[in-house]
Amino acid sequence: MIKPLTCPICDKPLPPQMTQDSGVFPFCSSRCKNVDLFRWSDGKYAIVEDLAQRPDILQEILEDDLFTQSNEEEDIY
Ligand SMILES: [Zn+2]
Repeated sequence: MIKPLTCPICDKPLPPQMTQDSGVFPFCSSRCKNVDLFRWSDGKYAIVEDLAQRPDILQEILEDDLFTQSNEEEDIY
């Protein structure tokens, strides 16, 4: 039985080519993976929306994303 996987952070369906070998599984992207890691490493930010209120922290995550996943689309929002 196969059910569609969704990103636990942004709730988007994972890309079909996403596998556990991708390095970011089960997240849709390294960005969401980093958000999750950051979220748990710093209990102050319990939900993703909080990160959106902290552009400085979000920037840190995005910069790290660019270094570790240079082959991914760089759709910084
Ligand atoms: Zn995601």
